[in-house]
Amino acid sequence: MLNAARFRPGPENREIVFLTGSGISARTGLGTFRAPEGLWALEPEVEEAMHGDRLPGSLPQLWRVWGRMARIAREHGPTPGHRAIARLGAPVISQNIDGLHQAAGSEIVAELHGTALRARCLDDRCPWRALLEPGDGATPEDHGVPSACPRCGAPTRPDVVLFDEQLPEAELVLAQRLAQRADLFVAVGTSGVVFPAAQLAPLAATHGATTVLIDIDPPPGASTLFDHVIAEDAHEVLPDWERTLHHVGGSSFLDPFG
Ligand SMILES: [Zn+2]
Repeated sequence: MLNAARFRPGPENREIVFLTGSGISARTGLGTFRAPEGLWALEPEVEEAMHGDRLPGSLPQLWRVWGRMARIAREHGPTPGHRAIARLGAPVISQNIDGLHQAAGSEIVAELHGTALRARCLDDRCPWRALLEPGDGATPEDHGVPSACPRCGAPTRPDVVLFDEQLPEAELVLAQRLAQRADLFVAVGTSGVVFPAAQLAPLAATHGATTVLIDIDPPPGASTLFDHVIAEDAHEVLPDWERTLHHVGGSSFLDPFG
């Protein structure tokens, strides 16, 4: 049941920016990595393989895990939360690697942790990238990409950021720019109190934004970091925001979507 008194954006919010984590994708069956039923719990050896210093020996595991995740994401598609964010036309900073914001129609997405939908070269200096045709299996060919980089011959790898790897500089810069220009900064389905939310929300606030966390089970300390904490299901809250904003200044009677 939605709380009628809780925060809603209004016409004064012209630059809404979202920060999303795995919670927004949880309805797709992708799982929340660190939740009890998450990927790591199902396959404890997988977590071992998610460290950059295990490359290139861990490549078969990476292809199997991230290729499968890309396939599941493609099969399940975006959630109501992804779709509402896309229809609001708001830019997104995402910790997710499932490509579901783009699938929902979002045009500006800073992917802080890369994307499982794409392959790249193992050599960081090489610019080669290719989209996957994700399937099942432990080789790049199982996911529609070559095992040797067509430009330089090095092995290929999923374009996801592993635990001890740097976040992509260009995406980080984009995320900071978006946070600085936001007048409403909304974190959804992310723990909210650790990086990057813990850095980006205060950055947005410093530049004048109102900050909101939507999380059905908000972490302790969230209310010190955000102006508003909405402890409800984002898949109900965000479509409600979308209806609110699309009815502002007009009659719902005249609105073809009303
Ligand atoms: Zn290469």
